[in-house]
Amino acid sequence: LSDRLQQSIKKIKGKGKVSEQDVKEMSREVRLALLEADVNFKVVKDFVKRIRERSVGEEVMSSLTPGQQVIKIVKDELTELMGGNESKIAVSKRSPTVVMMVGLQGAGKTTTTGKLANLLRKSYNRQPLLAAADVYRPAAIQQLETLGSQLDMPVHSQGTEADPVDIAKQAVEQAKEEHHDYVIIDTAGRLHVDGDLMGELQRIKDAVEPDEIFLVVDAMTGQDAVNVAESFDEQLDITGVLLTKLDGDTRGGAALSIKAVTGKPIKFAGMGEKLDQLEPFHPERMASRILGMGDMLSLIDKAQTQVDEKQAKDLESKMRNASFTFEDFLEQMEQVKNMGPLDEIVNMIPGANKMKGLQNASFDDKQIVHVEAIIQSMTKKERLDPSLMNASRKKRIAKGAGRSVSEVNRLLKQFEDMKKMMKQMSNTKGKKGKGMKFP
Ligand code: GDP
Ligand code: MG
Repeated sequence: LSDRLQQSIKKIKGKGKVSEQDVKEMSREVRLALLEADVNFKVVKDFVKRIRERSVGEEVMSSLTPGQQVIKIVKDELTELMGGNESKIAVSKRSPTVVMMVGLQGAGKTTTTGKLANLLRKSYNRQPLLAAADVYRPAAIQQLETLGSQLDMPVHSQGTEADPVDIAKQAVEQAKEEHHDYVIIDTAGRLHVDGDLMGELQRIKDAVEPDEIFLVVDAMTGQDAVNVAESFDEQLDITGVLLTKLDGDTRGGAALSIKAVTGKPIKFAGMGEKLDQLEPFHPERMASRILGMGDMLSLIDKAQTQVDEKQAKDLESKMRNASFTFEDFLEQMEQVKNMGPLDEIVNMIPGANKMKGLQNASFDDKQIVHVEAIIQSMTKKERLDPSLMNASRKKRIAKGAGRSVSEVNRLLKQFEDMKKMMKQMSNTKGKKGKGMKFP
């Protein structure tokens, strides 16, 4: 969020005793940081007041680690501000469930319509029908149809001459006939909130009585997003917000204020342009991210389910005495793979997003598959002792894995380098230990 906030958090974190002065100092930084992040000033004022009250209260003063307790309060309050617990998507008693997507032009409605449909099918086993009710923007219908064919999902459209209200109604009819359990209606946007747009959306709403009206908001638009959310909510009584472009260089202020100002939860977050890049919104994780702790919770969650402790210990000792083999490597890779796409994992590491190089590096999951194929083509003996490797073995392995010999060579080299590094690391560790004893 801001370096200064991170500094003051660092400062207070280890404190065994927190004075009112400390709290004052920190809440000042929190206040500035939030304002800097485009959070609505009224929201900030309330927020800081609550933090201050709680921080000088008994729960902190009587705790063993007051510094950390204060951080926790800040995080709790941030989480609360963004909506407490994460939300779910409605399921209507009468099929189909009707979802209406609204928002300004360029916010990401059409893209998110596709993403949401994808998510509903993948995670909830639903069969959505998409409806193209944006008849104004050139190629908007085609855009949705393209998404539909990418997803292999039907799209209801009636061309650009039809009335959006009628399109929405017909789409619901088609869904009933064809037994789709969801209809997601993509609607038109404007550059600014205006009466025409709202009137049309209102008529669609009256005609199909949606179970969800999702406002799609571009997280990059900062403070403006809050005003937009406020007017859409006033006019349409939205049921939730989908925040897009959170993968961008946004300060997250929009996420913070929208819930506080409208009272409507942020349900999903768009993390990229691809169709699988929509995630349930986790207020708690967002709070950590904002506080610069990285998305440690997500990472820990994932790691805990995937890596069992004993394995981790074994591995550590192997690393220490450099008896790490390709067998272990393969096992490690399985685990990392189970944790999810590599670039996502890297992004969750605190500070990783600041590291040059890592920022834009794309971690190719295909590469993992290739490496895995190569290791799997080795015999067990070779995996345990790569020094056996000669030209004909390499050739055999390359062939078996469907990769080139130079790729096999590269992997062998990387592996050797890695082992060297492990050895060095354990050596410096060892030296330190010895250094304690005076000869
Ligand atoms: P609409 O006018 O509201 O229908 O907006 P579109 O769905 O056409 O999206 C506008 C642009 O934003 C497109 O270029 C999308 O690829 C892009 N976009 C949408 N969602 C995201 C997201 O979560 N992350 C990023 N990086 N781009 C997005
Ligand atoms: Mg659109």
